[in-house]
Amino acid sequence: MTERERWIPLSMTLAGIPLRGVSVAGRETWFRVPSLDLAFDVGRSPAEIVPAQSLFLSHAHLDHAGGLAYWASQRRLLRLAPARVFADPATVPAWRQILALHAGLEGVEYHVAVEGLSPGASVDLRKDLSVSAFRADHRVPALGFVASEVRRRLVPAWHGRSEDDIREALARGEPVTQRSPRPLVAFSGDTGTGFFSSAPREAFEAKVLLLECSFVAPEDASRARHYGHLHVDDVAERAELFENEAVVLTHLTLRATPDELRRAIARRLPPALASRAVPFLPG
Ligand SMILES: [Zn+2]
Ligand SMILES: [Zn+2]
Repeated sequence: MTERERWIPLSMTLAGIPLRGVSVAGRETWFRVPSLDLAFDVGRSPAEIVPAQSLFLSHAHLDHAGGLAYWASQRRLLRLAPARVFADPATVPAWRQILALHAGLEGVEYHVAVEGLSPGASVDLRKDLSVSAFRADHRVPALGFVASEVRRRLVPAWHGRSEDDIREALARGEPVTQRSPRPLVAFSGDTGTGFFSSAPREAFEAKVLLLECSFVAPEDASRARHYGHLHVDDVAERAELFENEAVVLTHLTLRATPDELRRAIARRLPPALASRAVPFLPG
């Protein structure tokens, strides 16, 4: 398989959630989740990520974020609705400057707002969809995200009461229901092992976890440490943390072929995790 073929977008449906993306260490990473109308990272902004209404940027490395201005420009060209970009607050002024410079050079206005999302904060994208951010562990300010379906459920004190009682209480404005988020998709961004202590429990309970796992070869362990990336052995050592239906191993190195990567992952992960691990690789 040529390097070029590793860059062809992959489509997968995992735990009932369709995903599309590219993720190759150091080269390009983006994921689109059409059912949630959002994207995690923008890569070099291929055409198919342009329609996503909300974009969550994990960090500023250009393999993840280099296409931001092109994305904004393409949205304008296609007359798409105003979009929101969420990024680490420390990076927001620079992103706004970059977008303003490109808009100025093009003599146009982009309809894209860049907003800071602090670790621990969340944003409601729809009544039934919320995305929270957490701190990732990388060489530049980096975030991971958890997208959750939000339902309203009866608070326990109202269980067993009649529908009429509940309706009347609702009409009086009493707090009869409470938010009940169910984590659907979590994205680690690029991260070292600090992820395992900084990510919230929801990241490990989401139906699908997109987990960076750049390296698999034993001799690459120190490289992973140095560059703020995960090695498959880091994941294997913490296998009991993962309750996800699917753990998608992303950002895999170009230093090995897909077959070599698959074999190493199957060999190094304990069977209970290996059976749910999905290397994000073609073929
Ligand atoms: Zn990267
Ligand atoms: Zn990076």
